This record gives sequence, structure tokens and C-alpha cells, in this order.
Amino acid sequence: MAEPKGVMVYGESAQGNLTAITGELLGCGRQLADALKEELVCILAGNQLGEAPQKAIAAGADKVYKIEDAMLADYQTDPYIAVMEKATKDISPRILLMGQTSVGRDLAPRLAFRLGVGLAMDTVELTIDPETKLLQETRPVYGGNARAIFVSEAFPQMATIRSKAMPPLAPDTSRKGEVIPLKVELDPAKIRTKVLQTVKEEMAGVKLEDAQTIVCGGRGVGGPEGFKQLEELAKAFKGAVGASRPPCDNGWVPDTMQIGLTGKIVAPELYIAVGVSGSSQHLAGCSGSKNIIAINKDPEANIFKEARFGVVGDWKQVLPAFAEKVKDLLAG
Ligand SMILES: Cc1cc2nc3c(=O)[nH]c(=O)nc-3n(C[C@H](O)[C@H](O)[C@H](O)COP(=O)(O)OP(=O)(O)OC[C@H]3O[C@@H](n4cnc5c(N)ncnc54)[C@H](O)[C@@H]3O)c2cc1C
Repeated sequence: MAEPKGVMVYGESAQGNLTAITGELLGCGRQLADALKEELVCILAGNQLGEAPQKAIAAGADKVYKIEDAMLADYQTDPYIAVMEKATKDISPRILLMGQTSVGRDLAPRLAFRLGVGLAMDTVELTIDPETKLLQETRPVYGGNARAIFVSEAFPQMATIRSKAMPPLAPDTSRKGEVIPLKVELDPAKIRTKVLQTVKEEMAGVKLEDAQTIVCGGRGVGGPEGFKQLEELAKAFKGAVGASRPPCDNGWVPDTMQIGLTGKIVAPELYIAVGVSGSSQHLAGCSGSKNIIAINKDPEANIFKEARFGVVGDWKQVLPAFAEKVKDLLAG
């Protein structure tokens, strides 16, 4: 590989739009590239990328390498790993960033192995050491109870980044950049899997990850009936309902609503935690929220240490009055 240079982001797109995490990766990549005084490049692979390359430039990239091929229509490990191995060796970046998404979780470790380099997964902060110019990769460890900083000395230095951990830049359509088509020969005989069907999850209302207000219920909510009241409150805020792990494990709500270390990571403006104790595994998924309000009958509950506002009491008594007041204020 040539002398490693620049920061490369592996971008994900759908129907010509960048995914939210790609904007966040480009925002972070821009800062790192500026600190190194080097280029930020984005690599996009797919069947028809449409406007996605221009959007990547507006989101901070100096250069976009686009790889279009009918065999890249759906994400599959074999063609994507072949494309990424070839492209990374040709481009030879100093740093390679991917999202901590289902694609990133599949692709990043395989690629790191093929390149013979290290990989820090699920990072929440990335900085450049001003003296060594090496990437410092911070990630939660011990179930979110501590943070560790990793430094790899093999290039590219690879990291996957947790969703919502870094802010995207405001898109600037006047930014100028270069879009470079890249051809990678794919051998159909080496693609061992085939996508037979794609099933879209039906959902009503706002997506949990995109909601500006989340009402999260914990074990203290007591059962599925209680969650109906949380839905009412979330609706008043045009927000979404989430849950800690016990309500999901107990089948009160679907698993897709779980927030935390093994669930979704969210960072809304307002997070209302109802009957949630505030375990480190739960906080790993919501501590990026701008404001946390906790309702819990135990004044010693850990969630109060994280909350900006707290109400000590039985949620069944507190919530109706709170919801009424919210509805009045939002209507006025
Ligand atoms: C590897 C691993 C991964 C995990 N991943 C996750 C994860 O992704 N997400 C997650 O949430 N957990 C996760 N957990 C589980 C985690 O450790 C906790 O067990 C869980 O978060 C506790 O959920 P809770 O706060 O709802 O329940 P509890 O800890 O049981 O707390 C219930 C709270 O409700 C309060 N309460 C009870 N009744 C009322 C009432 N009427 N009014 C008001 N308050 C009331 C109680 O005072 C208590 O504080 C994980 C655990 C492990 C080991």
C-alpha cells in the first residue's frame, strides 16, 4: 500500500440519500482530517447511488469514490468485503471510519483482519494526538461503567462509531468536491449468498432513533397496560416510546423498543424515564439525551444522578397530572 494519508469514511446510503450515521461519520471525519491537515474521502458502494455522492460532499467530504455495480444492490458480505479490501488498499487511508450499524459490524472486523490491522468498535469519541498524529479511540468498557482509549499503530487505524455519538455538519450544498468512479471487478462465483426477500418493518409514528422526545418505561411500569399511558404522553410530544430491557424480556413491548447497551442508542432533546432504575447498561443507550426527566418512587434510584429533573413518587399518580399539564402547555 502507498504511504497512508487522509481520513476515509465508509458511507451507507439508501435511495440516493445518506443514512444519518454517514452524516455523523463525515462530521467526525472532517474534524480529524482538519486536525491532520489531510483530505477527507468518502467511499460509497451500491447499485444506483443517485445524488448520494453530492450529498456526501455537502456533508464534509473532499472527495467521493463511488462504486456502482448491480451485484452491490443489497448488502452482502462477499461482494462488499471484496470491494472494500481493494478500495482501501488502493486509496491507502491513514484512518478508516465506519458506522456501528449492522453493515459496519459485519464488514469492519472482516476488513481489519484482511488488512492485518487493529479495529476499535463502538467508539464514542475520536481525537488526534497532536504529538504522534495517531488516532485515539475512546469506547465504553465493562458494560458502560468505564471508558478506555485505544491507539493502534497499524494503518489504516480503523474504528466503528456509535450512532448519535458525533454531530453531523449542517449540509452545505455550495461545498466543492470531486466524485471519482471506481471500478472493482467482482466475480459472481465468489458470492456465496443471495438476498431472496427484503421484509420492511411496519411502524407507525416517529422512529425511536429519530424522536426528539422519548418516553421510556422500565420494569416499574408494571405491564403492557402501563405502556398505553406512556404512549399517550409520547403522542402529545409527537415523540416515541422506548423501554428498558425487562419490559422487552417480559414481552410487554417488542424488542425493537429496547434502549441500552444491547438495544438502541438514542440522544433526544427530552428523555422521560418512568420506573427505570438507571443501570449502567440502560444509561449506555440514553446518556447522550439533552435533558432527562426521571419519575421513580425510590429517591436513591441511580437514574436521578443522570436526570436534570426528577420526581420521586408512584408514576401512576405523577404521570396523569404531568401529561395533562404537558397537553395544556403544548396546546397553548
Ligand atoms: C450484558 C447486559 C446487557 C444489558 N443490556 C441492557 C439494555 O440494553 N437495556 C437495559 O435497559 N438493560 C440492559 N441490561 C439489564 C440491566 O442490567 C438492568 O437490569 C435493567 O436496565 C433494569 O431495568 P429497569 O430499570 O427497568 O428495572 P429495575 O432495575 O428493576 O428498576 C425498576 C425501577 O422502577 C421503580 N419503580 C417500581 N415501581 C414504581 C412505580 N410504581 N412508580 C415509579 N417507580 C417505580 C423502582 O424504584 C426501580 O428503580 C443488560 C444487562 C446485561 C448484563
